[in-house]
Amino acid sequence: MRMLEEKKEELKPSVSFIEQFIIDDLKEGKNNGRIHTRFPPEPNGYLHIGHAKAICLDFGMAQKYGGKCNLRFDDTNPVKEEVEYIDSIKEDIRWLGFDWEIREYYASDYFGKLFDFAVDLIKKELAYVDDQSADIISSQKGTPTQPGTESPFRRRPVKENLDLFYKMNEGEFEEGSRVLRAKIDMTTPNMHMRDPIIYRIIKTPHHRTGSKWMVYPMYDFAHGQCDYFEGITHSLCTLEFEIHRPLYDWFIDQLKTGDYKPRQIEFNRLNLSFTMMSKRKLLELVQESKVSGWDDPRMPTLCGLRRRGYTPEAIRRFIDLIGYTKVEAINDVSLLEHAVREDLNIKAPRVFGVLEPLKIIITNYPEGKVEEVEIVNNPEDESMGTRKVPFSREVYIEKDDFMENPPHKFFRLAPGMEVRLKGAYIIKCENFKRNEKSGAIEEVYCTYDPLTRSGGHASEKKVKGTLHWVSAQHAIDAEIRLYDRLFDHEDPAGQKDDDYRKFLNPSSLKILNGCKLEPSLRHVKPLDKFQFQRLGYFCVDYGSTESHPVFNRTVSLKDTWAKINK
Ligand code: ATP
Ligand code: MG
Repeated sequence: MRMLEEKKEELKPSVSFIEQFIIDDLKEGKNNGRIHTRFPPEPNGYLHIGHAKAICLDFGMAQKYGGKCNLRFDDTNPVKEEVEYIDSIKEDIRWLGFDWEIREYYASDYFGKLFDFAVDLIKKELAYVDDQSADIISSQKGTPTQPGTESPFRRRPVKENLDLFYKMNEGEFEEGSRVLRAKIDMTTPNMHMRDPIIYRIIKTPHHRTGSKWMVYPMYDFAHGQCDYFEGITHSLCTLEFEIHRPLYDWFIDQLKTGDYKPRQIEFNRLNLSFTMMSKRKLLELVQESKVSGWDDPRMPTLCGLRRRGYTPEAIRRFIDLIGYTKVEAINDVSLLEHAVREDLNIKAPRVFGVLEPLKIIITNYPEGKVEEVEIVNNPEDESMGTRKVPFSREVYIEKDDFMENPPHKFFRLAPGMEVRLKGAYIIKCENFKRNEKSGAIEEVYCTYDPLTRSGGHASEKKVKGTLHWVSAQHAIDAEIRLYDRLFDHEDPAGQKDDDYRKFLNPSSLKILNGCKLEPSLRHVKPLDKFQFQRLGYFCVDYGSTESHPVFNRTVSLKDTWAKINK
C-alpha cells in the first residue's frame, strides 16, 4: 500500500541521497569531475507535474554542480508520437525555468548506431530473430520463480539472423510477424533479462526519419545506449526502472568500449492525492472531452497548472519540499496548493472582486458623488504601492456577506449591524428589499458614517467585520471560473477496476457570470494573477478580452474568513 505523505510540518529541503551520490562521485573525481544528466521525455503527451519532479532533478543537479543537462526525446515509437507534443514539452521546460542550450537530441538521432549495435550483437551470437508472436513469446517467459522456455529460434545461425533482420528492416515482413531478441538467459530470476525483445517491425512513418526504418528499437534497448552515446554520467530515473538496470548494464558491457558507464540512480515518482498522472489516461480525458484539453486548468499538466495560475516558482518549491526518496508514496495535493498560495501571497496584488453580487444602497451618501479611496496593493510588499478605487452610493458586496437572520458571531452585514467596507466607511444596515416573486433579497439599504473613512483621523470607531466591495457604476462585469479538484477520490487511478472515470468530481468547475470587479482590472492580460480579497487567487484566462474578462480561480484562500480588519 502506498501511504499518504503528510509533509507540511517539515518544510525544510535537505540534500537528497541522489545529490549525495553526485557529491561523492565528484569528490572521487569520477568521470574526470564531469556531471552530465538528461531529461528524456517520450513525446506522446504533455508534461505533467510528475515530470516536473524529474526535470527539477535532472536540470537542477547539473546547474548546481557546474554540469550540463540534455533534453532528449525518446521517440522510439512512431505510432504514438507527435510534433505537437515536442513543442509543448520544450515550452513547459523553459517555463519551469530550465535551459538545455543547444543540446536538443532525439533517440532517433541514434537509430543508425543502434541498428549497427544490434547487428553486432547478432554477429556475436547475442541476438536472434524470433518468428513467434509477442503473445507466444510472453507466454514462454515463465515467472520469477520458474525459468522461461527457450524459443525454438534461439539457436538460429548468425547468417540467417542477419539476413532476416535486414529483411525486417526492408519491409519484407508484416508488423508483429518477427522480432529481434537479445540472447541472454531464460533462467535468471530477473524477467527483463530473459531474452528481451530489442527490435520490432513498425511501418508507420516516423516524424523525423520518415520511412527510412521499418524496425524500431525498444525503449529498453535504446535508452541506456543513448545515455552512453551522449556521455551522460548520471542517469536519473524513477524506481520502476531499477529492475531494468542490469539489462542496461549488460548492453553497455557488450558495447565493449570500457571507457565509462552512465550511473543510473532511481528515485520515487511523484504521485499526488486526488490526481491522476498517467499520460495515457490524461489523453483519454482529453479525447473523451471530460476536460477541455491538455491545458484545462483542472489537469495536472504543466500547461494546465500554468493556465490555472500556478507559477514556476511554486512548482519548484513544491518539488523541493517533497524531496527524492526510494519509497513510493502519494503526496498530499494540498501541499502543492500551499506552495502556490505562499508564492502568490508575495507576488499577487490584492484587488476587489465580487463573485455573487448583492447591491447595497447607502441612502445618506450623496447621489452622484464619487470618492477615490486609496488601497494598499499588497500588505506583504510595500514596494507594490497603492491604488485608487472609486467609491459611490451604490456598491456590490458578496451575497453571502448579508444575512437576514444571522447566527451568533456572524460579523458581516445583517439588519441593524455595522461593518466596514474595506478602505472606505463603516456602514449600517437599515433595511432591505425582496423580489416580489422569488422572495430573494435584491437590495440592502444602509447608512454610512462620514467620520469613519479609513485612513482618516476623525473616528476611532471599530467594527468586527470588514467586507470587500465594488462600486456599482464603476464595476466591470466578468466571468469567473471556480475550479476544484478534478477527482473526488484520493487515489482515482489506483482502484481495482481501474475505472477512474467514476471518481470525476461533478463540481470541479463552476462558471459564474455577472461577477463585478473593480475598474483597475480593465487592462489585464492573460496569466496576470491577483488575490481577490477574502476569496482566493485568480488568474486571467487566455480567452479573456476587455469586453469579456475571464478569470480562473487558482486556489481559494486557506482561511477564507480570516479577519482582514486592518
Ligand atoms: P507516464 O507514466 O505519465 O506516461 P512516462 O514515465 O511514460 O510517464 P516519460 O515521457 O517517459 O513519461 O517520462 C520522462 C521522464 O519523466 C522519465 O525519466 C520519467 O521517469 C519521469 N517521470 C514521469 N512521470 C514521473 C512522475 N510521476 N514522477 C517523477 N518522474 C516522472
Ligand atoms: Mg516512459
